Amino acid sequence: MQSAKNTKNAQCKRCMNKFKEKEIFTIQQFQYRRLPTYDWTREFFNLLEISEWDSFCENCMLYYGKISHAVWLRYCTVN
Ligand SMILES: [Zn+2]
Repeated sequence: MQSAKNTKNAQCKRCMNKFKEKEIFTIQQFQYRRLPTYDWTREFFNLLEISEWDSFCENCMLYYGKISHAVWLRYCTVN
């Protein structure tokens, strides 16, 4: 028998792929990123209508990590 943790009953908000619950990623993981700050990151995702409780797969989280960092670099830092 399969345990609930191993069935693919979580869904990514962006790509709509199904995946296992234990593989859920949320923007909360960006708390551990040094820059941009987590306050900035939360505001950025707020504009995209993404909250701290939305579930994403690993690929989409990597994607969001990349674009949020790129936007911050391009528009929010002084060269
Ligand atoms: Zn996804």
